[in-house]
Amino acid sequence: MHLFEAVKQSVTTRQAAERYGLNVNRNGMAVCPFHRDRHPSMKVDCRYYCFGCGATGDVIDFVSLLHGISAKEAALMLARDFSILCGDGTDAPRQSAVKKLRLEAEEQKYRRMEQHCFQVLADYYHLLRRWREEHAPCQPDEAWHPLFVEALQRLNYIEYLLDGLLSDDLRERAAIVTEYGKEVRAIEQRISGLAAAGPGGREERAGQRRADAER
Ligand SMILES: [Zn+2]
Repeated sequence: MHLFEAVKQSVTTRQAAERYGLNVNRNGMAVCPFHRDRHPSMKVDCRYYCFGCGATGDVIDFVSLLHGISAKEAALMLARDFSILCGDGTDAPRQSAVKKLRLEAEEQKYRRMEQHCFQVLADYYHLLRRWREEHAPCQPDEAWHPLFVEALQRLNYIEYLLDGLLSDDLRERAAIVTEYGKEVRAIEQRISGLAAAGPGGREERAGQRRADAER
């Protein structure tokens, strides 16, 4: 197995961040080392994403940026510090035809799951963006509409997940699909609940009336 793959498979950005001196809180947030950050605005997980400066990447990008070294040097450093062994892949056992077929079926199943995951998150993302516009308070002292609040709270996070699913690294995408699968199902239910309530659902109508009155 190649060095980069072996490292990315064995170490999460969170583990590396902790190892190299960052404090990561219970929510997986840390003070971003890449901009003047006063409150933890960087999410470190399998990958990292800073809600403040937008810095993002995988564990190797993280360590390379943190220490100002090349990607190769970062990978070697991680391999050393986390005792990762990398062979050259020649000792991998040959797969039988049956096993190969089974793997292909698994892969197709996974691909469908991933597409579904992306679709749900993308739908939700567009809803959130719409709410942020449509339900924005018009007066400074006006109580914030719950959908506007939800948009503010969730937009960056959903964008982060979508960003991860757009990665060309299969393992990163798979980590998101498995880690956040439950959450995606909850979002799906939320969207279908809203659709059932119709475009004139109670929640939406109240905000819309207010928005109309202000216009
Ligand atoms: Zn940052």
